[in-house]
Amino acid sequence: MTQETGARQRRKGPRPKHVPMRTCVVCRTKDAKRTFVRIVRTPQGTVEIDPTGKKNGRGAYLCTRFACWERAASGPALDRALRVEVTEEARQALRHYADVHFRRDDEGASH
Ligand SMILES: [Zn+2]
Repeated sequence: MTQETGARQRRKGPRPKHVPMRTCVVCRTKDAKRTFVRIVRTPQGTVEIDPTGKKNGRGAYLCTRFACWERAASGPALDRALRVEVTEEARQALRHYADVHFRRDDEGASH
């Protein structure tokens, strides 16, 4: 009986897709990676917004709620997540990014 070995090698059916989950550092919402925006602490120690998710460094994620960005810009959530002091310059960049990309009254419900 050699049928069993053959069956083990070939799995039938679609492989379960692994979707990386991320957590918003402010509201702790969990969701798939692509709905979040990565914030990175670069090797130089600066904090930058990394929409492509490709920059080197320690990353933290924010969801797309304006309120979370506002809180990240004014509170300690990002400092804690990235273990760095977020500069005033970086905080302004966060506010600006939120202004450009998100609506103040939008609770993250897109489409
Ligand atoms: Zn959030």
